[in-house]
Amino acid sequence: MLTRLQGIDTIVSCDPLDRVYTDTELWFENGEIVHIGSWDRSADREYDCKGMIVYPGLINVHHHLYQYFSRNLSKVQNLELFDWLKALYGVWKNLNEKTVYLSSCAGMAELMRYGCTTCFDHHYVFPENGGDLLGAQFAAANALGIRMHASRGSMDLSEKDGGLPPDSVVQTVDAILRDCERAIQTYHDPNPFSMRQVVVAPCSPFSASGTLYRESAVLARESGVQLHTHLCETKDEEAYTLSAFGMRPFDYLASLGWTGKDVFYAHGIHFNDSEMDRIAETGTKIAHCPVSNMKLSSGVMRLPDMLKRRITVGLAVDGSASNDGSNLMDEMRAAYLVHRLTWGSDAPSGYEILKLATAGSAKVLGRDDIGSVEIGKAADVFAIDRNTSDLLCAIDDPKNLFGNVGYHRPCEYVFVNGELTIHKGKIMRIDEETLHRFSETELKRFLSTL
Ligand SMILES: [Zn+2]
Repeated sequence: MLTRLQGIDTIVSCDPLDRVYTDTELWFENGEIVHIGSWDRSADREYDCKGMIVYPGLINVHHHLYQYFSRNLSKVQNLELFDWLKALYGVWKNLNEKTVYLSSCAGMAELMRYGCTTCFDHHYVFPENGGDLLGAQFAAANALGIRMHASRGSMDLSEKDGGLPPDSVVQTVDAILRDCERAIQTYHDPNPFSMRQVVVAPCSPFSASGTLYRESAVLARESGVQLHTHLCETKDEEAYTLSAFGMRPFDYLASLGWTGKDVFYAHGIHFNDSEMDRIAETGTKIAHCPVSNMKLSSGVMRLPDMLKRRITVGLAVDGSASNDGSNLMDEMRAAYLVHRLTWGSDAPSGYEILKLATAGSAKVLGRDDIGSVEIGKAADVFAIDRNTSDLLCAIDDPKNLFGNVGYHRPCEYVFVNGELTIHKGKIMRIDEETLHRFSETELKRFLSTL
């Protein structure tokens, strides 16, 4: 099936040469970009992209989709991370397959409307008898047509061990490792253009033991999958590891084997210079979540210092309840502004932020087949209409648009693996009204315990 996007005004490729194409066409075949420019072939399907700007699909590298149903709750809005987590574990301990399926659908639908084509999720709450929650997430991704990396997260330290979560949401190391193995065998597809991959992801140093971290790393490396965890999100976490282990958070994780090209941390705010040097040397990667970091008063990541060291950084919205949106276009604008405010002229440009959300995020997830518009890459792109009143006199520089100006409308088109998944802001594969109705019923049940 040969697909042609014709009449494109501009393609911002985000490729290594930072190429921009104008008055052009884009061709897909079997989920792959096969040609850029006019071509002497007849297409099986054509889409009119007159006046549109096309970008590579955005890639979200940290999320907790299950939190979509605990957004904007007045009881927790004024809390910082540790108190916020303690308050919400009481709600999250009632998660089941249905809640996770519906909240994953709702969160990823929002991401897709605003140009996201690949979503990584960090799921770490597995209540007893909760069912196959990773299976529910992959089913949600399949229902929408988005590419997904889901993690089998975990917690084994509860309140009685000095950790934060209640006993009801932690598991033994053995049970966790068995289920990680099952998830990898059942769902992980390592092939090019893979639509689903599994990551092994203990939650954080204050909810996962050293044994769990060490053994998770061994299992992930034997299985050829990536490793992920929260790190250096707050000063409270630093105080915790200094007091419990006599080490700063990065030294503690490094002592457990948690550095390398197969490891990415969420947040990475409170690193010192020598820690950043070691992160660069080891090829360890970072998922940057600026809105969550601002909302939970966690701090500002030293992004210019990381980029100077060529540390791989991707962009993420983080959990639905610590953002509370799931919109990477908003995240790019917020990232641009917070770093301008903090670092002045050392801050990354709008285009550098766009590259974090595309090529950078692809590298964070260990993928070389997504993240740019290039021949041979997966056909994951989104298109916006330049002829809207919002963009009047603002489109001189499409590379820097999302940082400098911001863009706040759903996309005209979103293609994932060559398939049209969003048209004029509407999901193509599912009936959004039905999803909304089912979700409201489940949401009321879920929140009844708060
Ligand atoms: Zn998180």
